[in-house]
Formats: sequence, structure tokens, C-alpha cells
Amino acid sequence: MDDDDLELRIEALAVLQRLDAQGLNRGSTGNLSLRAHAGGFWITPTGMPADELGVADFVRLADDGRVLEGDWEPSSEWPFHRAIYRVRPDLGAVVHMHSPHATALACLRRPLPAFHYMVAVAGGDDVPCTPYHLFGTEALSQAVGVALAARQACLMANHGLVAGGATLAQALKVALEVEALCGIYLQALAVGEPALLSPAQMAEVAERFRTYGRARRSG
Ligand SMILES: [Zn+2]
Repeated sequence: MDDDDLELRIEALAVLQRLDAQGLNRGSTGNLSLRAHAGGFWITPTGMPADELGVADFVRLADDGRVLEGDWEPSSEWPFHRAIYRVRPDLGAVVHMHSPHATALACLRRPLPAFHYMVAVAGGDDVPCTPYHLFGTEALSQAVGVALAARQACLMANHGLVAGGATLAQALKVALEVEALCGIYLQALAVGEPALLSPAQMAEVAERFRTYGRARRSG
């Protein structure tokens, strides 16, 4: 097996256990995947709680869904992971959570609008919410593929959240930020209708994000 991929799966295991410990996923809900160097992608097996999972339990799937490596059946939600890798060659990891705040908003079938500038972390003016489709279906994976073509994250109606990134760390960062924003949005909604930023204001944020980062002072 590829050494790079082993490191990736060790990192993925730590992320899954952390999400479980933080209550952002419970038991065997939620999953994640990583684009494999040898082709296709690694995904968590179906029905295995994070605290029982080992690096050897990940399953590598080909782009057509065939199992290439691994002893277990893949997560039943593998079709939407594949859909994302197909439409976004720039993404290397996908994190899916049934985290409380994102899922609550998804159950209202409401997108996360531009109520806070950090919404731009998902790559646009909102985090869309796909229509409801049964988990594991082609219909759901098509809807997620459409949403993720233009964003780093989306909500899935009556289900949860999915986020992608070039690396697992980036996918996780987007997922955690969107989860936190959904919580703040729900709190604001409990009092009234939050004021929204305009497309011009969000474009300004996106521009700032492109140039923002660590910067050593030159003097
Ligand atoms: Zn799910």
C-alpha cells in the first residue's frame, strides 16, 4: 500500500474520532473520504463506529464504485462522494457530518444565506440546501454534485452537511465553520430575520480571503 495514503488514513481516523468525541457525529453516522494516489478514493466502511475503526478498515473504491481494496462494504453514502470528485478535480477530501446545527437547518430545508461574512469560506454567497432524496441514491448524489460544483459545502435536506477541500484539513475546516455558522444563524433566527450582506459585500470578502493569510512583517 502507498505510504502517503497510509498517512492520509491515519489522519482521517483521528478526524473521525475527534468529530465523534465532539458530538458532531455519533456512532457510525457521518463519514469521510480521501482521493487515493493510486486512483479512486478511500472511504469509511458502512456501519462501523469511529471508536472501532482502524486504518486497515478503510475501503478504496474505483471511480465506477467497484471495491479495489478493503474487507468491508463501503459507506452507503459513497455515491455522493464519487459525484463530488467527478465534478471537482481540485478536491482531495470530503467530510460528511450529521452535526446538530447544520442538520437542524437542513431539516428546515433552508440554505445558509450571507448573514455573516464567514459564509464565504464555502466559496460563495450561501451554503445551498439540496432537495430531499433518500441516502445512498443516485438522485441524492446528483443533487450534491450540482451543489458542490460551485461551492465547498452544502446542506442536504433532512440529512446533514457535506464539505470538500483540497486536503482533509481544508475540508474539515470548512465543515466545522459551516456547522458553527449554522448554529449562529439559528440563534439569530430565533430572535428575528438576520440582515444579509449584499453580493457586492460578499465579493469584497471573497477578494480579501484570496489575499489574506499569514504575513511576516518586512521591517
Ligand atoms: Zn449521512
